[in-house]
Amino acid sequence: MLIVMHHHATDDQIRTVQEAVAAMGLQALPIPGSERTAIGVLGNQGYVDDAGIRELPGVREVIHVSKPYKLVSRDFHPEPTVVDAGGVLVGDGQPPVIIAGPCSIETEAQMLASAHLVKAAGAQILRGGAFKPRTGPHSFQGLGVEGLKLLRLAGDAAGMPVITEVMRIEQLEAVCRYADILQIGARNMQNFDLLKEVGKLDRPVLLKRGMSATLEEFLAAAEYIVAEGNGRVILCERGIRTFERATRNTLDLSIIPLVREMSHLPIIVDPSHATGKRPLVPVMAKASLVAGAHGVMIEVHPDPDRALCDGAQSLNGPGFESLMGEIRKLVAFIGY
Ligand code: PEP
Ligand code: MN
Repeated sequence: MLIVMHHHATDDQIRTVQEAVAAMGLQALPIPGSERTAIGVLGNQGYVDDAGIRELPGVREVIHVSKPYKLVSRDFHPEPTVVDAGGVLVGDGQPPVIIAGPCSIETEAQMLASAHLVKAAGAQILRGGAFKPRTGPHSFQGLGVEGLKLLRLAGDAAGMPVITEVMRIEQLEAVCRYADILQIGARNMQNFDLLKEVGKLDRPVLLKRGMSATLEEFLAAAEYIVAEGNGRVILCERGIRTFERATRNTLDLSIIPLVREMSHLPIIVDPSHATGKRPLVPVMAKASLVAGAHGVMIEVHPDPDRALCDGAQSLNGPGFESLMGEIRKLVAFIGY
């Protein structure tokens, strides 16, 4: 429920409404705005009878929010959120964030080469998977904690914050020891216990859209993290499962402007997993930025043909450099 106050409502009137909400056993969240003050009501599991609130002095209207997300919505938080991701600011008014690196951490040499290559080309954050959610059990499952150490080593060598996926609650301690940003993968978008645990941490989170998740389910998943107190969530569109098999997934570009309208959280795009095809990655990366994405995450490998995972969708060094040159021109044109 959202209680909208008259713009001339006094502080006393606002306080009285907050007390009335608290007396109902609910939590009142004041939402100051330039045009109006609103009070978000949290903690109810069903419809709230607003009779005692509607009549209070200073109340203009009471809006019942039936969506499964509130805290991540623009209704409850009109101003855009800028997330500090390991020292890199992501969100409105910032240059687009470029996250790049291999799908999987393989060796020290591969990670060092990847880190120096993406850094030199202009990426701000290094990616690499140590715990890999592979479709089949016979595929490379990642190096685990040894991989995390290599990721940290490479990030430090190149002077970049690092991001990596966490698949299970038990991995959180190790991942937090080595990584600056936690990634929740598409397959875990609705692992609610994991989302809640990550919500209790003081660490930025990149939440990827589940491959069959609606936009509402995506935002509700983010709500799980924010509701536990961690507001540093970046959303990531990475393609959804459709009937089309010409691409690995179908990049749902139109949710970018929708998310920007519905939520205050930043959203980036992963065109690598969305397309699965190297030649499509640069053009869809640029299309994402044109659509309003706050950044992109690109798989880059020094030798994609020998990659242990997702080589077909990984750019090599020259490919990534060339994309970065195009992104720079685009950014100058869009005028971020
Ligand atoms: C990844 O980014 O490493 C990954 C596995 O992506 P997704 O969870 O989107 O499939
Ligand atoms: Mn991958």
